[in-house]
Amino acid sequence: MNRIAVFPGSFDPFTIGHESIVLRAVGLFDKIIIGIGSNNNKMSFFTAGQRLEMIRSLFAGNDKVEAQYYEDLTIDFCRRVGAHFMLRGLRTSSDFEYEKSIAQVNQVMLPEVESVFMLTLPEHTSINSSVVREVLRYGGDVSKFVPSNINIRKYIQ
Ligand code: ADP
Repeated sequence: MNRIAVFPGSFDPFTIGHESIVLRAVGLFDKIIIGIGSNNNKMSFFTAGQRLEMIRSLFAGNDKVEAQYYEDLTIDFCRRVGAHFMLRGLRTSSDFEYEKSIAQVNQVMLPEVESVFMLTLPEHTSINSSVVREVLRYGGDVSKFVPSNINIRKYIQ
């Protein structure tokens, strides 16, 4: 069996916290598919196409990591791509409570997909996409929070 994991999220934008989770998990799986979900509760800052391009360019040299956009339920995306694992990062206890309920519901709906959680590195605990977006809105420098291979300025007019 190919061990395929989906790493779902909004990735608006992709941060060094996300990158770290992917790089630390890559040895556990044959393939990690970064799934950019269309989250109806969130107005996105970057378009789906921009987020896809940023992530694909970042992992262009790594054939175990790919990125796709999906508009349906995450478990349906997992089913479609043949994933048996769903990878999520945990920063705080509130992340844990939130992730626990999602994982338990997903488990009922699609038992063949196992959720796998990875604790963030301590230095990445406070990094999240919404703070990065806020800094970007006011023209600040986000280079310490976004992988250096992503040229985020290119996507901001
Ligand atoms: P979502 O909208 O699903 O929360 P995000 O793009 O914010 O999407 O996050 C995707 C995944 O990455 C989630 O599992 C989240 O907990 C994890 N994550 C976000 N930021 C970090 C970070 N700094 N360190 C580790 N994991 C993170």
